Amino acid sequence: MKLSFQNRIALHYMIATAVIMAIIFGVVFFVVQETMYQNLDNSLNFEASKHSGEIKIIGDAIQFINKAEWEEVEHKEIQMNPIFIQIIDINGSVMDKSPNLKRDVLPFKDINEYGTHFNTNLKDQAIRQIQKPIESNGVTKGYMLAAITLEPSLMVLFKLRNTLIISYLTMLCGLYFVSRYLAGRSIIPVKNITQTTNRITKNNLNERVELPVYKDELYDLSSGINQLLQRIENAIERERQFTSDASHELRTPLASLRGTLEVLIRKPRDVNEYENKIKYSLSEIDRMTKTTEQLLLLARLDSTNTILNNTLISLPTLINEILVRYDKDILSKNLKVELQVETEEKTLVPKYHANLILDNIINNAIKYSTQNKSILIQLMSIDKSILCKIKDEGIGIKNEDIPNVFNHFFRSEALEHKHISGNGLGLSIALKSAEAIKAIINIESKPNKGTTFTINFLSKS
Ligand code: ADP
Repeated sequence: MKLSFQNRIALHYMIATAVIMAIIFGVVFFVVQETMYQNLDNSLNFEASKHSGEIKIIGDAIQFINKAEWEEVEHKEIQMNPIFIQIIDINGSVMDKSPNLKRDVLPFKDINEYGTHFNTNLKDQAIRQIQKPIESNGVTKGYMLAAITLEPSLMVLFKLRNTLIISYLTMLCGLYFVSRYLAGRSIIPVKNITQTTNRITKNNLNERVELPVYKDELYDLSSGINQLLQRIENAIERERQFTSDASHELRTPLASLRGTLEVLIRKPRDVNEYENKIKYSLSEIDRMTKTTEQLLLLARLDSTNTILNNTLISLPTLINEILVRYDKDILSKNLKVELQVETEEKTLVPKYHANLILDNIINNAIKYSTQNKSILIQLMSIDKSILCKIKDEGIGIKNEDIPNVFNHFFRSEALEHKHISGNGLGLSIALKSAEAIKAIINIESKPNKGTTFTINFLSKS
């Protein structure tokens, strides 16, 4: 059966209350019934004890002493709830009985089986009866039976039972509707959330779920959904910006390529001019190829954090491999590059990501250094992490540009250093790679003094 959330709450609430109320009503009924029987048994005990002192035992016969007085009282008074008394011998034969029993006889039941108190019938009437042994010199001579009609007590119990059952059923019905109404009211915010989230598409991502008045779990849920929507909106906005920046970045070299070729085709030129324009065109094509490769790399880093076959490598080995790659640039600028390893520990890091981080940062240190300057690379360990500092004496970054250097396509003062090639994607790739291996990159920089990048790697040793 498919129940709505609202009905499910109401049903569960009702079942729990039904069980609790059934136990409470059962206990009430049982206590009233037991108290009633106890009262009757006390009266019967009193009467039986009283009459046990008013008997005479002659041989095997047992009889009441004052039967005549008793009969007289019986004639004068009408008793509402008469108590019947009867004496029987050990064989169960009636020896004597109270006048109110007339021709009737109280049934004797085996004490071992029924105990001293039990319910039975006298003709059609329900009665409560007790049986007490009559002893003489320690020998049981017979039994004193005392009984009283149960009809009024049973009537009270019957009425109590019916009242309890009717109020139980009425209460459950009422409870079901009340709890259904309350459950319905308390899930209104959930319905609001569903309606709003169903309405939201890519085109109205700025809509938000209405926050409930009280700061409860539903408030947390609504504000959690709003924060999620905000993150999605930001991500989509970033994506939009990225696509437009990327197409701009590719359109510019394409336009300049087209312009160069159009100029070339207009009229015949000398060989030198052809050579220069073709060289320029090839360099633009290289730039576009590099940008496309870096965009693909960024997309790959975005789509998965786990690179298969991400082997470990020691940092000094990796740094030396990178320096070899840029040997030509180092020599042409006559840079002094020094690697200081100030740690005894093994400096193993995931090769794929560490290479992307260090390659871009070392490449920048070389690119943005002027002639004859030094670059210092230091490796040291702090607690369980390895710090790699890359310090150059290059052109530096303006203080207000430092927070932006990791943004896609951001180039600080690009016009000032047009001769330095770049597209503003290198540090974005470094940051994405660092996030993938939980490394942290920090920058300190002063214009015309130099820049220091500090990368905090978690050691895999
Ligand atoms: P680019 O391809 O332009 O070098 P990056 O993403 O690697 O792109 O760097 C972004 C910008 O940060 C660079 O354009 C440059 O302005 C600045 N930058 C990065 N590293 C350095 C550095 N070592 N010295 C000076 N400026 C730097």
